[in-house]
Amino acid sequence: MRHQQTIALIAHDGKKDALVEFVQTNQSWFEQFHLVGTGTTGGRIESLGVRIECLASGPLGGDAQIAARITEGRVHAVIFFRDPMGKHPHEPDINMLLRQCDVHNIPLATNYATASLLIGRIAFGGE
Ligand code: PGA
Repeated sequence: MRHQQTIALIAHDGKKDALVEFVQTNQSWFEQFHLVGTGTTGGRIESLGVRIECLASGPLGGDAQIAARITEGRVHAVIFFRDPMGKHPHEPDINMLLRQCDVHNIPLATNYATASLLIGRIAFGGE
C-alpha cells in the first residue's frame, strides 16, 4: 500500500465518462493510493466503490484546492481529463493547477493516452 501518496483526479464534463472508465479498468492500481478529486468527478468515481476524498466542484474552487495541495506537497500526481472543446468559467483556476504541477515537477496527464503511460511508468521520487 502506498497510502502516503496522493493522486488527484479531475475531468471536465465531456470527459467524465472516459475518466470513470479509466479508473474502473485500472481500479486495483488506483486503490494503492489516497485519491482526491473535484466534487462531481469524485462523486462519479466514488460510485464505482472506490474510496476518494471529494473536494469542491471545479467551478466552485476544486481545481484551486488541488493546486494548493500541490503547493503544500500533498499531491504527487494529477490525472486531469480536459475537454479541449469546452469553455470553462474557472479557466484561471485550471491554469493555476497546471502551472503548480510544473512549478513542483508533478506528473500531470491531461488525456487518456498520457494517463495510461503515467500509471504504467509512474516513479515517485525515483521508486
Ligand atoms: P467537477 O470539476 O469534477 O466538480 O465537475 C472538474 C472541473 O470542471 O474542473
